[in-house]
Order: sequence, then structure tokens, then C-alpha cells
Amino acid sequence: MKNENVDVLIIGAGPSGAVSAAYLYRQGLNIKVVEKSKFPRFVIGESLLPRCMDHFEEVGLLDALKAQHFEVKAGARFMRGDKICNFDFSKKYTEGWDWTWQVPRADFDKTLTDTLIEWGVDIAFEHEVVAVEFDGSNSVTTVKDIEGNLSTISARFIVDSSGYGRVLPRLLDLDKPSDIPKHSSIFTHVKDLKRPKGREGTIITFDIVSLETWLWVIPFSNGHTSIGYVGPTDYLESFAGDNTQKLREMMRLSKYYHDRFEGLEYEFEPKMIKNFSKSVTKLHGEGFVLTGNSAEFLDPVFSSGVTFATESALQASKLIARQLKGKKVDWETDYVHHMKEGVNVFSTYVKEWYTGNLQTIFFDSNDNPVIKAQICAVLAGYVWDKTNPFVKNHHRLVKTVARIAELEKEGKN
Ligand code: FAD
Repeated sequence: MKNENVDVLIIGAGPSGAVSAAYLYRQGLNIKVVEKSKFPRFVIGESLLPRCMDHFEEVGLLDALKAQHFEVKAGARFMRGDKICNFDFSKKYTEGWDWTWQVPRADFDKTLTDTLIEWGVDIAFEHEVVAVEFDGSNSVTTVKDIEGNLSTISARFIVDSSGYGRVLPRLLDLDKPSDIPKHSSIFTHVKDLKRPKGREGTIITFDIVSLETWLWVIPFSNGHTSIGYVGPTDYLESFAGDNTQKLREMMRLSKYYHDRFEGLEYEFEPKMIKNFSKSVTKLHGEGFVLTGNSAEFLDPVFSSGVTFATESALQASKLIARQLKGKKVDWETDYVHHMKEGVNVFSTYVKEWYTGNLQTIFFDSNDNPVIKAQICAVLAGYVWDKTNPFVKNHHRLVKTVARIAELEKEGKN
């Protein structure tokens, strides 16, 4: 069986694997990426956060992305009935990028891998990791190609960025139940033939149908739009028919968007991802690290997935480069603690979304610009800025501010 030797093996070529590959390659390390599918391939996760622009810029991938002219996302709109809450990233508390993109991931991810290939990065598409054996921090990974041929890769370190493939969590039994409510989603793309002109046609919107159910509308610059519905798994399963019939019924629940998408052909049979929240018992071990969705996924409501994928990839890759160059690395402090800080903030926001507290704040008619700017910084992905009270005191502050808003409302009635 053919064997290759590398410093770092990266499993998966999504945004997490791409950022990791870019950083480590530029550090002069001998790396290889193995990717199960052939690109372009569909994957969900189309609304980005400004914070991930920092990551793409730092590893040198931003210019290639800019050249694609994806739809600019300068904020986000949340709506519930006739109440609207607009966030504008240029009015956020923390300094940083005030825009990002809404992207068809097939094109976005292919741009990343095409750029890496141009640089000279070795990416083996249609190669699936099927087994990994560790001997201390060294590992031997077995890979199967599309024809079923097996080969091995010996590596000094593995980055598992396999997303929902969850290669090492599965092989090493690291999965643990998430403490986020069990939610699922059903989604597709449409050719947005009735798209209104101007900003209304291109703005990303989260249309809140009930406390726990909502619809996303993510327009792309290519005239297509992603639509998806999220809710408790039991509720989504209660709709009759195939996924097309289910999603058509769900779209009827959106008063605002029903007409725009009524009658349009779905570009593919809507896909359903059940119980999408994932967690693990540990984020790293001797000779490996988990990044992106392979490590953790919370919920799509605040579009944090890709940003966590790139944040974790960049942070982990910096530590790997240091370690392989013989320097000491404190993985617990510099990786686990760092990632948990960000995940914990978003986790509070997701949970408080579904308790209704955050919705109370978003749709409060006494919009407070200071509070709004601080929350906006969180929604832009700047969740490590401890000078922001909505980061530092995330556990308490969302609850407290929601309670005050409720009391003020009661006082008025
Ligand atoms: P991926 O992008 O999934 O890439 C992993 C790659 O690994 C894949 O290409 C896969 O083929 C490959 N792979 C898998 N198994 C193997 C194997 N055995 N061997 C080799 N390769 C393998 N995030 C956002 O930021 N914005 C959103 O709007 C958003 N919406 C979402 C909506 C839903 C319903 C869900 C469930 C998630 C959403 N996400 C969103 C999350 C987003 O999909 C992920 O966080 C993001 O894609 C993670 O990137 P990644 O690089 O970790 O994994």
C-alpha cells in the first residue's frame, strides 16, 4: 500500500480545512488535505459574519474571495409579524469589519481550494479518511479513493476539519450530546424570479414565525436565493409529505415571504438536517485537534458556524506550527479556553433566543442604540471583546435587559 509522510494532515477542505491549510502551508510545513467529495459540492452555511474576514485576510485568501463579487452582507434583518429589527454592522460596538458576504458555499469553498491549489497545496479530492491509528502524537491515516483503493498517510499532526463527517469524534468516540434544544432544518435554493429591486431584494432576513420556528432568506449575487426553515425536530417531522411538500407548507407560514417564493421551482429536493447541534468531550489530544463543525455546532440563528470554523482553524494552526517547530504549547489555555469563551457567548445567545429573552430585546420598541451596538458586535462575531458588556456578562445581561423591557412594557399597559 502506498504511504506518504507529511507534517500535518488536514481532513476536509471546507472553510476550516482551507484556513488551516493556508496558514500551515505559508509556515513552510509539509501538509496534505484529503477531501471526501469532488468540488464544487453543496454544503449549507451561507451567511457569514464580519469576524471571519479577519481570518481569510490573515491567511492570504481574502483577495481571491473578493474577486468573486459575492452578495455583500452589511447587517441582518430579523422580523416577527410587523416588528422589524435591523442590525447594521457599521454601527457595532467593537472595531472590526463592518461587512461580509452571503455565499453559495459550492462556489465559495471552491474559490478557497482553487486558490490553495494555485499556491501549490496538495489537496486530494474524492479521498475519504476511513481509519486513523495513533502512536503517541504520530499517526497513520488510511484513505480510500473513489475506486476503493487504499493508501496511508503518516503525519506528525492531524487537523480534523471534516464538518459533519466528524471523522475523529466518530473514530475516537468523542461525541457528546449538545445542550442546545433539539432543532432541525429543511432548506433549498430557488431562482429568485420575483426578487424585488434594491436592498429589499438582497437583504438577509430571519423571519420569526413562532418562538422556536423561523425562516431564513439569503439572497445571492447570482440571482438565486437560499430559503430554509428551522424548528424543533418533532415539529418539523409533523409536516406531511416529502421534503418539497414540507417546505412548501412551511413557507405558507411566512406572511411576508409567501408570495415571493410561491410557485418557484426548488433547485433541488429540499435537504433536511436533523438535530444539527453537535458537541464533543474534548477538542484536542496528542497529535490531533478538532476544528469547525467537527468540534462543535450550535444553531444557525446567528450564522456563527463558518466563523467558528475559521477562528478555530487559525488558532489551532498557529499552535501546531509552534509545536512542530519545537516550541511549547499550552493547548488547554490557548485553544480550548479561547474557543470555549466564544462558544459560550454564542451558546447563551442561542439559548436566550429560544427562551424568547433575546427576541424581547430585538423587538422592543424602545430601541436603545448603546445596547444595540453592543449586541451588534456579538452578531458580527466579535465575541472575544471583553470590553463589551454583552460579551463579558453574557449570562446575566441578556436576561436582565429582557426583564427590564418586559417591565417597561407592563408599566405602559
Ligand atoms: P464543512 O464545510 O462541512 O467541510 C467539511 C468537509 O469535510 C466537507 O467538504 C466533507 O466532504 C469533508 N469530509 C467529511 N468527511 C470526510 C472524510 N471522512 N474524509 C475526508 N473528508 C471528509 N454557518 C454559517 O456560518 N452561516 C449560516 O448561515 C449557517 N447556516 C446553517 C444552517 C444549517 C441548517 C446548519 C445545520 C448549519 C449552518 N451553518 C451555518 C453551519 C455551517 O454549515 C458549518 O459551521 C460550516 O460549514 C463548518 O465548516 P467546516 O469547514 O467545519 O465543515
